[in-house]
Amino acid sequence: MLSVKDAETIIFNHVQPLNQEHDLEIVDLLTGFHRILATPVISALDFPHWDNSAMDGFAVRYEDVQSSTPENPTILEVVQEIPAGYQPKNTIKQGQAARIFTGVIIPKGADTVVMQEKTKLQENRVSIFSAPQPQEFIRKQGDFYQAGTELLPGGITLKAAEIAILAAAQLPKISVLRRPRVAIFSSGDELVTPEQTLKPGQIVDSNQYALAALVRELNAEVLMLGIVKDNPTALIETINYAINHADIVLSSGGVSVGDYDYIDKILASLGAEIHFRAVQMRPGKPLTFATFTNSLYFGLPGNPVSALVTFWRFVQPTIKKLSGINRGWESKFIKVKSHCELKSNGEMETYIWGNLKLNNGIYEFEQTSSNLNSGNLINLAQTNALAILPVGKTLISPGEETLVLQIE
Ligand code: AMP
Ligand code: MG
Repeated sequence: MLSVKDAETIIFNHVQPLNQEHDLEIVDLLTGFHRILATPVISALDFPHWDNSAMDGFAVRYEDVQSSTPENPTILEVVQEIPAGYQPKNTIKQGQAARIFTGVIIPKGADTVVMQEKTKLQENRVSIFSAPQPQEFIRKQGDFYQAGTELLPGGITLKAAEIAILAAAQLPKISVLRRPRVAIFSSGDELVTPEQTLKPGQIVDSNQYALAALVRELNAEVLMLGIVKDNPTALIETINYAINHADIVLSSGGVSVGDYDYIDKILASLGAEIHFRAVQMRPGKPLTFATFTNSLYFGLPGNPVSALVTFWRFVQPTIKKLSGINRGWESKFIKVKSHCELKSNGEMETYIWGNLKLNNGIYEFEQTSSNLNSGNLINLAQTNALAILPVGKTLISPGEETLVLQIE
């Protein structure tokens, strides 16, 4: 059976990230939050825009104050005060100083700022009690960023810092990549919506809600296509619509080996290339991955936990890679100590849900319920991690390290 690693490689090799030629959108700064910058940004402004003061204090000529001491202070004439937002009026000459505030332009003639705490102002005379370093507390124009160079690279996610940088560069309209579109439907004759009356034998379609929430969390657009009966005509119609309206299609159910599991056959009849139908993992073995010309298709297992585990393991990094993000789209596995015994039959790569907890500053994984079963959605609540036991590993003892995938 196909290993998880090989399945992942096949999937990622088929992901064509969104790009600036076809998938560009112009948005306002605030709507840009969490979106992906489509192109590199170049600013016409230097940062700082001009030589300015890093302190409240006095702008001076270094040569005037270089031998100041507490016993033998230098006394300078204060010839101007420059408040925030104003330009200096005159040049600082020998024996003169300007009262200056943080961020204010350094007046001509001055080359150093003496912080207020090292001075004493009496009327228009200031005493300097200690010799500064040459150019101390001056932020030079262009020290942080030089106009015309790359301010931000394309392919990054815009968070608070990047939004602030774009605002500071006076770029209120930004080019971002459109969001990936993900169509979701559930298949099964037994499924009903949360609003419908539940008859014996029926099951509420919880997968569609869980998957929609996970897709939204990744800042992708969701198309919820509802419940589709185990009926080839209905399935063909839905899948045909989905592949023409979405970058990624997620169905759940109908991919096992049961008599009513039609999805694989329908995918083939619609011209899909089916890459695999099963993966050596538990939960999540019946997983279909197929590609159409313009979309990727994941036939997730119907069991609620299996659907979510396969989403976290394969679909989440796929959506991120497709979104055009330039790095960091891969799943992040971390090594932590297990607090308890973790067991597997060793035949499959096994995913155990539980909690990553901080214990005296060190993360530990804890299996929070002993009754793990891919149909038991209930004990998935409030878990935040999946411990992974590789094929062949039947036991992880308390205190032993395990690989963990965070799921929040
Ligand atoms: P299947 O993969 O269609 O054989 O379904 C496997 C199990 O998952 C069955 O018990 C289904 O009733 C259940 N199941 C299938 N689809 C869903 C769904 N959308 N929400 C919750 N349970 C489901
Ligand atoms: Mg079914």
